[in-house]
Amino acid sequence: MTIDPQPADRARLVLDWDGTCTVVDTLWLLLEEFGDYDVFRRAGEQLRAGEISYRQLMELEFSTVKGAELAAVNAWLADHAEIRPGFHELVERHDPLVLSSGFEELIRPLLARERVEVELIANRVDPRPDGWRVIWNREQPCEICGDWCKRAGLPPGPFVYVGDGYSDRCPSLAADRIFARAGLAEYLEAEGAPYEPFEDLQDVLRALES
Ligand SMILES: [Mg+2]
Ligand SMILES: [Zn+2]
Repeated sequence: MTIDPQPADRARLVLDWDGTCTVVDTLWLLLEEFGDYDVFRRAGEQLRAGEISYRQLMELEFSTVKGAELAAVNAWLADHAEIRPGFHELVERHDPLVLSSGFEELIRPLLARERVEVELIANRVDPRPDGWRVIWNREQPCEICGDWCKRAGLPPGPFVYVGDGYSDRCPSLAADRIFARAGLAEYLEAEGAPYEPFEDLQDVLRALES
């Protein structure tokens, strides 16, 4: 008899990528190194003030990445991006979905560096010399938040969500159980939504298995 590692009634584990599976958000690292830091900083303030949408923020920020070859950016990220402790164990034991509003072209090379195979849903990027363009993986805004959020990529059925940032707000609120840190934790706290705090992914693994 074989044991099914993913019984149908078991909640799927959904992980944000940047700032969740990585220690520091790789998009922030990239924008600081290859983009316009002032635009990046201001866009974050405008988003939090409700002056621009998440879609506008992403398109604005990455339009400032000019003349940067994708291969050069990935080589730089390979040297600077750090994976959060516990990631490998969590993937091995829970076969998660990685759900990111970042770009497949940047995430897949890091997964390859880590020798990790995992299901990934992310956006794509067209790294044009005159400024990177976001290629969104959805054609309509979210019915719940009205923005180009990650909710459309959620699996059917019950799921556990692990995240840290703005783009996790809408999808996490659909979860049966939320693990949060940093900005997402502050947001959920303010919303009065229950969540469990985490620092590294060992915390999540321990909580899932206790
Ligand atoms: Mg994040
Ligand atoms: Zn949404």
